[in-house]
Amino acid sequence: MGSRMKILVLGGGGREHALVWKLRESPLAKKIWCAPGNGGMAAEAECVAIDAGDVGAIVAFAEKVHPDLTIVGPELPLVNGLTDAFRLRNWAVVGPSQQAAQLEGSKIFSKEFLVRHGIPTAKMYGTCGSSAEAYEALNSVSWPVVIKADGLCAGKGVFLAPDFTAAKDFIERVMEKGELGPGGKRILLEETLEGDELSFIILTDGTRYAPLVPTRDHKRVFDGNQGPNTGGMGAYSTDELLPAGLGEIIRSRIVEPTLEGLAADGIRYQGFLYIGLMLTKSGPKVLEFNCRLGDPEAQAILARIDFDLAEVLADVAAERLEPSKLRWKTGASACVVLTSGGYPGRFESGKRIEGLTSVEQITGVKFLHAGTKLAGETVVTNGGRVLGVTAAAAALEDSLALAYAAASRIHFEGMHYRKDIGAHANHLRAAGD
Ligand code: AMP
Repeated sequence: MGSRMKILVLGGGGREHALVWKLRESPLAKKIWCAPGNGGMAAEAECVAIDAGDVGAIVAFAEKVHPDLTIVGPELPLVNGLTDAFRLRNWAVVGPSQQAAQLEGSKIFSKEFLVRHGIPTAKMYGTCGSSAEAYEALNSVSWPVVIKADGLCAGKGVFLAPDFTAAKDFIERVMEKGELGPGGKRILLEETLEGDELSFIILTDGTRYAPLVPTRDHKRVFDGNQGPNTGGMGAYSTDELLPAGLGEIIRSRIVEPTLEGLAADGIRYQGFLYIGLMLTKSGPKVLEFNCRLGDPEAQAILARIDFDLAEVLADVAAERLEPSKLRWKTGASACVVLTSGGYPGRFESGKRIEGLTSVEQITGVKFLHAGTKLAGETVVTNGGRVLGVTAAAAALEDSLALAYAAASRIHFEGMHYRKDIGAHANHLRAAGD
């Protein structure tokens, strides 16, 4: 390593702003672009108006500016084959191949992978390509049953059906009416698992890997896990989320067999792998894989890094990750997401955001832009999730206090945020999250 790098980050939300934030702290970062980025982060990275999922346009841009390293934030570019296009040209990129991204892009692919390699997961009852087949299959399941649309469905593709009527209704909506789009053409039926949920995220170069600090997110829009699911209303990280001994069990029973299984199948996996787990009475079992960092988990995780992100990600791209380089700040972090009123339903954009400058002055706090844009000199709202107020401190309560103190200084019309991020920290379960 050693030479300074031009870095391209793909995506435009809070997770990507968090990546930019930490990449900028690296002495190795010479120039950072973010495609498309967002108005609020424009002072920290040059935002390029290209859709991150448009492989052809991203390749054309990279041909022009020659980034030394490209980091993929969201899943769409991965599922669309962005990293394959880059590797074909010998360009350094962090993110799994299109084939590997099927672990997230297809629930059936991922379930078959887990079963093939004997990795603990919920029992599969079957897969169905038509509603008639699915109704038939419902005759031989135990209730409640979990129904999963196969493809990407923006977080709406999983349904826990208590009985036949509810199951039939969901299947009808997904498979006959196509309410979730093409992702609902095939479905998977599986056993319902009980226990506490935990996300375990690793960074891997395909051979070596390092776990990231544990995090938990809050998906429901209102306090007490009420209201509809969102992209994520906040997250926190503290080592206490991972009880002693559990990390080792997850590594030996889940992470290592997964990496070995991928290698055995000839699938190249390089980048972040997010493993959603259910901690059942008979041990941890895999609920799902995501082939990227979660958002807003990324904000909480990156707030705790104590290493050179640009250097480590360049190592991953070059397949020479040194896990010992991933050092973490002791203590904790929290990210509180400020949303537009009405989100995840209809909401208005273009609201002027006030108070950002006063937040900038609070030590230990960073506000990460998700849905913002510049209207002249003014930062205005431009999405459902607007800002992630992120703080790190010696203890979880302190990081939460900092984040909430900062959030209370920001204002825009209709602004909403949860007041109970991290409130379940003493209890492993974050019900409904
Ligand atoms: P997934 O996208 O597969 O993780 O599913 C989203 C959420 O649905 C998970 O975070 C769990 O809360 C729930 N879920 C998924 N699969 C199961 C299962 N087999 N048993 C119980 N809950 C599940």
